[in-house]
Amino acid sequence: MSIIVERFNKIKSNINKDVNIIAISKTFTFEHIKPLLDIGHNHFGENKVQEADMKWSNHKKSNKNLSLHMVGKLQSNKSKKAVELFDYIHSLDNQKLAISLSRFELKLKKNLKYFIQVNVGLESQKSGILPNLLDDFYSFCTKELNLNIVGLMAIPPNDGKEDDYFKYLYEANASLGLEHLSMGMSADYKIALKYETTFVRLGSSIFGTRA
Ligand SMILES: *Cc1c(COP(=O)(O)O)cnc(C)c1O
Repeated sequence: MSIIVERFNKIKSNINKDVNIIAISKTFTFEHIKPLLDIGHNHFGENKVQEADMKWSNHKKSNKNLSLHMVGKLQSNKSKKAVELFDYIHSLDNQKLAISLSRFELKLKKNLKYFIQVNVGLESQKSGILPNLLDDFYSFCTKELNLNIVGLMAIPPNDGKEDDYFKYLYEANASLGLEHLSMGMSADYKIALKYETTFVRLGSSIFGTRA
């Protein structure tokens, strides 16, 4: 068995069945990905539109069960390609992007699922809606644009206070009545599981260290 499948199975066996594992395949080639597709895994994530397009567009056409997740910063000028290729976008973080995505949904007759990215650590260098603006942004996306917001997403700082950030996101999600949470990466997913995350985004713990 490939080492990638071994790592994946080990993680999966320790996680509740209703938590979805997104295998974050950025920087890795199809050779690394194929063993996971062969065992029937269907959720994969990328952080760059162009890389994702080159790697996945053919497989996407031939495999209807495949779910592709955009987890990285998305520029609005890449909205069209993003709507064409992805099923989920985890990094919805500003009005201009939301408007542009909703236009291409109409044009291409597609409905994606979105996570609003929240800047839980109030970090100036990180993307995400600030917590005090979240309710307004959520209303804008759902009422003005009809986007299908399924939950909240965050990339918290690794400063030892991960419990607080994940707890905040869990509560904010519940107060909006949303179904899903996208929280937990290789370093912190075990903490995110305590706060009932439904999607974990795992790269290096499955594929190994990135170059
Ligand atoms: C790269 C990336 C991940 C996966 O990171 P690992 O630490 O390798 O698990 C998860 N989420 C986002 C947004 C990423 O860019």
